[in-house]
Amino acid sequence: MPRFILLLLLALFPSTLLAQQPGPRTGPFTAPQRSVRSRTIDQQHVRLDLKFDWEKQEMKGKASHTLSLLAPASSIELDAAEMAIGEVTLATEETANPQQKLQKNHQGNKLTIQLGKEYPAGQKLQIAIEYVVTKPNQGAHFVIPDASEPSQPKMVWTQSEPEDARYWFPCFDSPNDRLTSEIVTVAPANFIVLSNGSLISKRENDDKTVTWHWSQVKSHSPYLMSVVAGDFEVLEQNWDGIPVLSYVPRGRLAEAARSFDKTPAMMAFFSEKIGYRYPWPKYAQICVDEYGWGGMEHTSATTLNLNTLHDERAHADISSINLVAHELAHQWWGDLLTCKDWGEIWLNESFATYFATLWTEHDQGWDEAAWERYHEAESYFGEDARYRRSIVNYRYNAPMNVFDSHAYPKGGRVLHMLRFELGDEQFWRALRRYAEVNQFRTVETADLRIAIEDATGQGLNWFCDQWLYHGGHPEFTVSWEWDAAAKDVKLTVKQTQKVDETTPLFRTSAEIEIALPGETLTKKIQITKPEETYHFQAAERPTRVCFDPKDWLLKKLSFAKSKEELLDQLANDKNVICRLQAIQGLDSQKGDPQVAAALRTAAAKDPFWGIREEAIKLIGKLNGDEARKSLISAAKDDKKSLVRRAAVTALGSFADDESRTALKEVFHKDSSYYAAAEALRALLKVDRENVHDLLVAALDRPSHHEVLLRAACDGLAELKDAAAAEKIAAMLKSPLTPDRRIVLLGALARLKGGDAAVVKQVEEQLSNDRVSVRRAAVESLVALAQPTALPALQARREKEQHRGTVRDIDDAIVKLRDKDKSAEDLRKEVEALRKKNEDLESRLKKLEGKGKE
Ligand SMILES: [Zn+2]
Repeated sequence: MPRFILLLLLALFPSTLLAQQPGPRTGPFTAPQRSVRSRTIDQQHVRLDLKFDWEKQEMKGKASHTLSLLAPASSIELDAAEMAIGEVTLATEETANPQQKLQKNHQGNKLTIQLGKEYPAGQKLQIAIEYVVTKPNQGAHFVIPDASEPSQPKMVWTQSEPEDARYWFPCFDSPNDRLTSEIVTVAPANFIVLSNGSLISKRENDDKTVTWHWSQVKSHSPYLMSVVAGDFEVLEQNWDGIPVLSYVPRGRLAEAARSFDKTPAMMAFFSEKIGYRYPWPKYAQICVDEYGWGGMEHTSATTLNLNTLHDERAHADISSINLVAHELAHQWWGDLLTCKDWGEIWLNESFATYFATLWTEHDQGWDEAAWERYHEAESYFGEDARYRRSIVNYRYNAPMNVFDSHAYPKGGRVLHMLRFELGDEQFWRALRRYAEVNQFRTVETADLRIAIEDATGQGLNWFCDQWLYHGGHPEFTVSWEWDAAAKDVKLTVKQTQKVDETTPLFRTSAEIEIALPGETLTKKIQITKPEETYHFQAAERPTRVCFDPKDWLLKKLSFAKSKEELLDQLANDKNVICRLQAIQGLDSQKGDPQVAAALRTAAAKDPFWGIREEAIKLIGKLNGDEARKSLISAAKDDKKSLVRRAAVTALGSFADDESRTALKEVFHKDSSYYAAAEALRALLKVDRENVHDLLVAALDRPSHHEVLLRAACDGLAELKDAAAAEKIAAMLKSPLTPDRRIVLLGALARLKGGDAAVVKQVEEQLSNDRVSVRRAAVESLVALAQPTALPALQARREKEQHRGTVRDIDDAIVKLRDKDKSAEDLRKEVEALRKKNEDLESRLKKLEGKGKE
C-alpha cells in the first residue's frame, strides 16, 4: 500500500471521526410527565439516635417517627435503602407502653410495616425502627485513615439531597413532606457533633464518649437533615444575637476568616432584603473532607467542601464568597420554603444563585455582579447547545438530572429579568410576600406567581409561561439608522430564534441607550413581535446605540456596528457589558492599527478588570512589538491575577527573548499559583529547549489544587523526558496526598507509553474515596486512551453516585469510544486499501507477465 495514502488517512480521520454527535435536544428530560409524589402518611417528627463506629464504618440507629395517616391503613411504607432493619415497634395514642412489636418486610429500597390492624385516617402513630448502616456508599460517609492516608483524621458526614436520606435513616424521602427533627449522637470525647437546630444538651458518658442532642423545632424536609462528627475547630461570630459558627478541621483555623468573615454581613443583607429575619437559631458552616459537592444547605448547618478553605496566595484567584452566599441564601430559599418536587428545583437553586450575585452587587458593586451574571448566561448557553428544556420540568429521568445549568444560572437570570420587569421596589415587595406567605411550606412555581400578583397587582402568567414553562431564549438581531432631516433614530429589533414546541416568541421590555456627543439617553421599549421598529428623537447623530446596556435580558444579540461606533463604545460606555460587546465586535478588525491601539488602551486602563482581560485576550491574537509590550506590561503589573494570567497565556505565542524573560519572572515571582502555572505552560511553547529544569523544579512546589504540579507533569509528558519518569516514580514511593498521587500517576503512565502496571494503578483510583481523585483518574484515562480504560470506566459508572463524576465518566466513555471507533474505522479502511493495492499489484504482475509472454 502506498505510504502516502496511509498518512493521508491518518491526517483526515481523527478530526472527522472524533467530532461528537449532538445528543438529543431534550437531554435527560424524556421521562413521562411526573407528578408530585403521593403519600399516605404525614411525617410530623423524627428522632434519630445514632452511634458511629469508624473501625467497622458502621452507623447504629434508631429512628422514632411520629406520623399521622392520610388515609385508613393497616400498613405503611417507608424508603430505606442498603441498611439492616432490626426491631420495629408501635405506640399509638390509645396503646400506651409497652411498645407493640410490628411485622415488617424490607425489600429493595422499601420498608413495609404491618400495623397489626387498620387505623383510620388522621390516626397519630409513633413507630420506632432500629437499623444498622454498614460501609455506606450513599447518604452517609465515613472519612478514615488508610494505607494511602495514614494520618487522615476521622470524620463522618451525611448528604441526602436529592433522595439519599433513605440510605442513613428510614423515612418518606421526598421534599414534599416537612417535619421537625432531633438527632442524638454518641461521639468520641474530642469530637464535635453538628446537626440541625439548637443544641439541647451535651452529656458525658461513663465510657468517655459524649452524647450530643440537637433539636430542630421548626419544620424542614428530610433531605435537609444532617449530622457531622469529627475533630474540628470553630471560628465564632455573631449576627444580631444569632451565633454564626464556622467549623474547620483542626489545624485549619487560620484559613477560616478568609472564607467566612462576611457571613454575618450577608445574614444582615439577606434578612433585610427578604424582609424575613434569618429563620433559624444558629447558622453553622462546616468544612468536611472527601466531600464531593461544593456545599449543601442543611438547615442551619451547611456542609461545605474542604476546598472552601484556601491560603492567602490562592485567594487572588479563588474566592469562596459566592459559595458561602449561595448556601446561606438557601436557608430561606430551600429550607424555609422548599420546592415541592425536584421538577421545581429552580425555586431553590435559581434563588440561591441569584442571591449570591445580589450579594456581589451589594458588596462589590454592579460591574462585578454584571460580570458574574454574564458568565452565568454563558454557562447556560453551553448547556443549551447540548439540550434545551423548560425550567419547571417534571420529565426528568432521575432527580439528580435537574441540578443543571437551567436550574442554576438560567433560573438566576430569569429572576434578574423578573426584577427588571417589576422594578426594584415591586420585585422586593413580591419576594417578601412570597417568603411570608409560604414560610415553612413546600412550594411550586404557582405560589411565587400568586405572591407576585398579590403583592404588586401584576399578572405575570406570560412571563412564567415563556421563561419557566418553555425553553430557550430570544436571539435578537438589532440595527439602527439615523435620519438627519427628521432627527430620528430608527431602531429595528428582530427575534430570529426558531420558534417551536419548546421555544416561544418572547415578549419583553428592553432598555436602549442612545449616546449623543453631549448626553446619553435611556429609553425603554416593549418587544412582542418577530420584527419591530422604534423611533427616537435626538438632537444630533448618536455616536452609538446600545441594546440592553445593563444586560438585564438573557439573550443572544447580533448588532452589526461600524468600527467608529465600536471604538466609541469601548472607550466611553459606562456599562461593562457594552464595553465587552465592543471588544467582541472589534475581533474581526483587530489588525486595524486604530483598533489595536484602542485594545491596548483598554488593556492598560479600563477601570474594570474583566474588560482588561478580554482586551488582553484579543491582543494575544495579534503579533508585533506593540502587542508584545502590552502583554508583558499586563503580565507583570496588572493588579488582578486573572488579567496577568490572560497575558501570560497570550505570551505563549510570542517566541522572543523579552517574552521568555517576562514569563520566567512570572513563574518565579508572581504571587498567584495560577499565573505561575500558566507561565510554565507558555514557556513550554516558546522555550521548549530550556524549560525542562523549571518543570522539574515545579514538581516539588506546593500550589492550590496542584496547578503547578499539573502544569509540570503535562510539560514533562509532552517532552517525553525519560529522566523525569524516574524522578516521578521515586516521588510516588514517598507519602503523598491523594491529589498529588493521581497527577503523578497519570504523568508516569504517559511518560512510560501506557505501561500496563501504571495504567492499572490509575484505574484503581477510580474507586478512591475522594471525588477529586476519581475525577482526575477519569481525566488521566482519557489522556492515556488505553484499551482497558473503557471497561474500567463502565464498571465505575455502575457504582458512581456523584453527579459531576458521572458526567465526567459519560463524557470520557464517549471520547474513548470515538477514539476506538476512529481506530477501528481506520483499520478497516487501511485493510480495504491494502486489499485494493494487492489487487492492483496482482493485476500489474499479470499484465507484466503477459508482456513477457
Ligand atoms: Zn444550591
